[in-house]
Amino acid sequence: MKRIGIIVLTFIFIAPKAFSWGFHGHKMVNHSAVFALPPEMFVFYKKYIDFITDHSVDPDRRRYSDPEEACRHYIDIDYYEKSLPIDTIPHYWTEAVKTYGKDTLAAHGIVPWHIILMKNRLTEAFRNKDMMAVLRLSADIGHYIADAHVPLHTTHNYNGQFSGQYGIHAFWESRLPELFSGGYDLVIGQCYYIDSLNKQIWQIINDSYACLDSVLGFEKKLSKIFGDDRKYGFEEKSGRNIKVYAEDFSKAYARMLDDQVERRLKLSALMTASVWYTCWFDAGQPVLDGLDAFDPQQQTLKELDLEIKQLMLGRQEE
Ligand SMILES: [Zn+2]
Repeated sequence: MKRIGIIVLTFIFIAPKAFSWGFHGHKMVNHSAVFALPPEMFVFYKKYIDFITDHSVDPDRRRYSDPEEACRHYIDIDYYEKSLPIDTIPHYWTEAVKTYGKDTLAAHGIVPWHIILMKNRLTEAFRNKDMMAVLRLSADIGHYIADAHVPLHTTHNYNGQFSGQYGIHAFWESRLPELFSGGYDLVIGQCYYIDSLNKQIWQIINDSYACLDSVLGFEKKLSKIFGDDRKYGFEEKSGRNIKVYAEDFSKAYARMLDDQVERRLKLSALMTASVWYTCWFDAGQPVLDGLDAFDPQQQTLKELDLEIKQLMLGRQEE
């Protein structure tokens, strides 16, 4: 998730979902990634696919308990660069710290460097055959990779707050997938070995940043054509009538963007699988068949139990 401002400023219906890609999008990315893995990895990941899917949103949840979490989800490229390509920000963390200092980097987001850190951790977990860590780190890394693919995660104008387009963040990453993901073709092909993740990540950031022109420009253009009364509509959610981006407006926007949301979601999934694969490969391709992280059945029951307890606790506090 980008920043607290997003939650406050977006419409009520998307407020709980105003996370990066929305919960729905993140789950789709991690789930689809499993099917791009080679057979040597597929059996293990398929066994724990529910865990990897459900925990794809952990990094957003952690924001509430860990003050260092928020900056791991974005980078304000426009703070550093006047125009593309991105060639003034040091691509390596130690150099970046030397140039800008940790505080400046944290203030403007660290997603590319954090993905590299996570990649090293996941490789180490494979090397140690620590399968619980493999699962957690795999779920996390899919989240950060997906965030790096979101154009609005590369600008300080992340919710259109400086261009009169409040709400565009969740419109792009939550409302559009919510409406149209049923028609997405999520066959993403086979993952591949990544020679230089650093190079690849910065290319993704570069591409995300390059998409911003159309993300913001097309919304503005369509808003003029539709006018406020056709741009917005009302939908009933949980018994309340709430303001939403109208379906026709959303459809026109998705078409104008040439299905950019679907394309970036698919790329996120393929990249996620490829990073998992690269970590496993670099760790010496440990045999995963027969290894367990936990008993999926038991774990599900335990989590259900916890949810029930939390629900009861919530009721007592009301
Ligand atoms: Zn996020």
